[in-house]
Amino acid sequence: EVDELVRAANDGELVVDEDGATGSAARFVNKTVIVTGAASGIGRATTQRIIAEGGRVIAVDLFAERLSELSAAHPEGSIVTVRADVTDPQSVQEIVTAAGEAPIDGLANVAGITDGHRPLHETSDEIWQKVMAVNVDGPFRLTRALIPLMRGRKGGAVVNVASEASMRGNAAGTAYTVSKHAIVGLTRSAAFLYAPDNIRINAVAPGPVATGIEGAFASEFSERRIGPFMRMIPPVADPAAIAASIAWLLSDDSSNVNGVVLPSDGGWSVQ
Ligand code: NAD
Repeated sequence: EVDELVRAANDGELVVDEDGATGSAARFVNKTVIVTGAASGIGRATTQRIIAEGGRVIAVDLFAERLSELSAAHPEGSIVTVRADVTDPQSVQEIVTAAGEAPIDGLANVAGITDGHRPLHETSDEIWQKVMAVNVDGPFRLTRALIPLMRGRKGGAVVNVASEASMRGNAAGTAYTVSKHAIVGLTRSAAFLYAPDNIRINAVAPGPVATGIEGAFASEFSERRIGPFMRMIPPVADPAAIAASIAWLLSDDSSNVNGVVLPSDGGWSVQ
């Protein structure tokens, strides 16, 4: 059944329970969720999963063409695409406005970039600022914009995407590691502040996932990132597996979970 759900989610099919639009396969019926980084990898899989469970996604990314493809593959009304750069402060209002009249139930801050595994002494100001702008400033501004709206309706869920690099110093380059530690701080601070408003803020920390993010650095991956410090070679996850963790934290199934950083890494982080 789970395989079928994941397959359906990957294919962008709408899965509805036998007894109607309830149950674990339809947790997002009548819900609107903003997903950044929606054109690729984990963000795309998250978008597909939420739509497959009956939800409506405001899909945000830099790449208009890939957003159009994503939109074309889903039923009308289930997806609104916004071509926006999360580092641009002006984009925040545009993203919120795209939701229309419907209340926004969730936010998945998935957009992220790597630093190409650069050590500190090879990190230029430009790389540092760019990585911080996408991985930290973007989630900060979007969360800040949504908190008053979620407070107004007494509830909401935010999921940030952390990383193995949120927990160790040797899983990525310096700028990326700092940015992913920072997103954990943002998660915990916001979870503490807005728990009384029934707004939950959690993070997912994926291990390696088969997406485009490593790009040109794929060959360096095992040498620089895994080799030096890992006894256990981690499973490389399908983006749908991370999307399932994000969807759980966005859904009411995790209603008593707040402020956690959930490893979604096949156990890699236990060693
Ligand atoms: P990906 O490159 O496949 O997708 C990232 C998406 O974010 C792309 O579509 C890209 O266009 C978009 N994006 C980048 N900068 C943006 C901006 N300024 N504004 C709007 N959109 C922007 O990568 P992915 O692996 O799916 O990464 C998603 C998240 O998961 C990132 O935060 C990443 O750090 C994290 N992560 C990935 C892995 C992995 O192994 N793939 C592991 C741990 C954490």
